[in-house]
This record gives sequence, C-alpha cells and structure tokens, in this order.
Amino acid sequence: MQIPKQVEWILLQLEEHGYEAYAVGGCVRDMLLGREPEDWDITTSARPEEVRQVFARTIDTGLQHGTVTVVLDRTGYEITTYRIDGEYEDGRHPKEVAFTRDLKEDLKRRDFTINAMALSRSGELVDPFGGREDLKAGVVRCVGDPSERFSEDALRLLRAVRFAAQLDFTIEERTKLALRAEAPRLSCVSRERVQAELTKTLLSRHPERLCMIREAGMAPYVSESFPDLFAETEAARRLERRLRLAAALPSAKAVRWAAFLLEMGEDAGGRILKEFKLDNETIRCARALIRWLPVRIAGDPRAVRQAMSAMDDGLFDCLLEMKEILDGEDGGHAARLKLLAEEIRGKGDCIRMKDLAVTGTDLIAAGAAPGPALGQTLKELFAHVLEYPEDNVKEILLKAASDRD
Ligand code: ATP
Ligand code: MG
Repeated sequence: MQIPKQVEWILLQLEEHGYEAYAVGGCVRDMLLGREPEDWDITTSARPEEVRQVFARTIDTGLQHGTVTVVLDRTGYEITTYRIDGEYEDGRHPKEVAFTRDLKEDLKRRDFTINAMALSRSGELVDPFGGREDLKAGVVRCVGDPSERFSEDALRLLRAVRFAAQLDFTIEERTKLALRAEAPRLSCVSRERVQAELTKTLLSRHPERLCMIREAGMAPYVSESFPDLFAETEAARRLERRLRLAAALPSAKAVRWAAFLLEMGEDAGGRILKEFKLDNETIRCARALIRWLPVRIAGDPRAVRQAMSAMDDGLFDCLLEMKEILDGEDGGHAARLKLLAEEIRGKGDCIRMKDLAVTGTDLIAAGAAPGPALGQTLKELFAHVLEYPEDNVKEILLKAASDRD
C-alpha cells in the first residue's frame, strides 16, 4: 500500500519549507497491516503558525493542541505539530501541551506502540518503540509504563480493548495488569468518549472482546449497571457467546448494542443507551430489537404482519437475522418467516397505520364525530386489517366503522 498522493503532496510542501513531516499513528498502523486507513494524520516539526504559512488555505481545528487542517479534494488532513503532552488534568485532558522539534518526543506521548510509528514521504519508518514487531506478534502494548500511561488518560484502557477487538490482538501482560490496577480511573472519563470506544468494540470483528472489561475488573467503572450484565459466571458466559455470534451480524450500532444488552430487557437496556448518550434513532431501534428478540413469531402471515407493523422494514429484516444467528432459531423457521415477510411486502398488505384505506377525515365525512374516539376507531380498524388484509378497502372499513357505533 502507498501513501495517497494528497498526503505525499502535503508532506512535500512542509519539507520544501524546511520542516520535517510524517504520516503518523493509526494510518501507519493500518498501512502496515494492509488495511485501508480511515484518515491520514500528519505530524510535523512546523509550529501551527508555520503550517498556516505553508498552505494557501487551512482550517484552525485545534490550534491550542497544535492542529491545523488542510482540505484537498474535499478530504480534510489534520496536521499536528510535534508535541509533548503536559500534565493531565482529571485524567482527561492534558492541561497544557508543549511543542517540540523532536519527532521521538511526539511518538512517546502516544498510547500504544502500534500507534506510535511515523512514515516519511520516502517510505522511512520511524518506530522507536517496536511497534512493527508488536504488529507482527499481534500485541497491544503501552508506550512506556502502562500504569503511568493509563493514569494520564483513562480512556486508553478502553482503547486497548477496542484495538484488541478490531485487530484481533492480545493485550501484553504488563499492559493487562495495569488495566486492572487503573480500572477505577474510568469513572472520570466522559460518557461520550467511553461510548465511542464501546461502540467501536461492538462494531468490530470481535465484539466478544468487550468481555475483557469484566475479566480486567473494569465493568463497575464503565457503568454502574454493567456488573449486572456480567454478574454471574453463567450470564457472562452467555453474553460472551452471544457477542461471538454477533460478529456475523451487520456492523450497525443498534444491532450490536441490542445483542449486547439483550438480557437486561428493553427498559434497563434503554437506560444504558441513554446514559451513554447514543443517538435517539439508535436507541429506538435497539429497544425494538431487544423487545422483539425474545418474542417467538409464529410461522403464519398474521403473526408476521403483527411483528412487521411494530417496526420499519430494515429493522424487521435485522430482527430475523438476529433471531436466526443469536437464538440458533431453526433455519427452516427463520427462512419461512423471511419468505412470509417477502410475500406480505409483495402483496402490499397494510402493515402501517399510514397505509390504512381510510383516514380520520374519511370517517368524519361519513358522519363520525371528531375527537379521541375517532383515533380509537382507526386503531381498531388497523388491528382488523392486520388480521384480514383483504378488508383494507375504503367501503369495507367505513361500513365496519359505522356498524361498530
Ligand atoms: P481509528 O482512527 O482507526 O479509530 P486511530 O489509531 O487513528 O484509530 P485516533 O483516535 O484517530 O485513533 O488517534 C490517532 C492517533 O493519536 C493514535 O493512533 C495515537 O497515536 C494517538 N492517540 C489518540 N488518542 C490517544 C490517547 N487517548 N492517548 C494517547 N495517544 C492517543
Ligand atoms: Mg484515526
């Protein structure tokens, strides 16, 4: 794999102005692994003001942390000055950062050896901490003393788990011991940052690695309600098994979070999702999945229409997939439900209130009184149509409504 042209060009501009510049961090790691990097970060000896003078147009992304963004072909490239992170305040933010002209100092502040490598335009790898060897061995190892590094920023505990899950790596022994020792510090990390790492772990190819937070004694500090999830050995074993199976499910937030929280039930699970500030759409979908997963859907069109009416089409398909993969629901039944759903969609049966053949206006025009009773009538007509889809005809429903009065 090669450094993209745009990155090469940025490195060249900085070099031509007399500065050092390297691709650094996650992108170098991913390149060495033969994976497509998500974004390209650049590190340079140039100070932010100097970076701004090199490029015609820049965006001040985080000047106090030394980051300036250059946009090329609608992609942003973050250029950060070599820096030494000062003392950490509350285990979250470095109180101050100091710029340096020494690349090695910058690499030293990074979390893991595999994330502490830099690559020059000419292909020279700067790897003072043995990152490449750890990549080969499949090991997540802190740069420097693990306890010290975790106490500077406790988010790194969850990042270690996340990289182990994404890369299918093990965590080096000393780093693992420090996870246990420093676990209590996790309670000071913001919910959003914790969530981002948990979500990345769940979306990875090894979501079951999330169980490391129990094994390393981190669970109570990640969330007060987490110990419930893993409390007994048997529950923990089921959870691990379920997450292992979940690797075969779509890598979507609602699906993976629902698989994780399933045994808590909809309300308790929903509370955790809220605590972690997941977006409302994800919460809504995950709750519906948690609610419906334990419900056995009979293999007849009525039951399938009922279930379909409770969620949108995409979510229903996810539900079937989850039932098949997580419950080991017998393949024949799962296939039958899928087929029935396709038939129902093909026929255009009414499975949503909005597709009912009458509206409130129609009922009023036919003489019904406006008011709450009208809503009730519509609900009953919809329930009727879910059972008898052939009755979703305006005349039939108007007659049914007037018979009912
Ligand atoms: P990805 O972008 O795939 O999630 P990444 O390794 O690029 O993974 P980022 O969060 O984008 O992770 O950070 C970029 C780089 O910054 C990391 O590779 C690492 O060198 C450094 N870094 C990020 N967060 C921390 C942290 N909390 N402590 C120390 N270094 C960090
Ligand atoms: Mg990144």
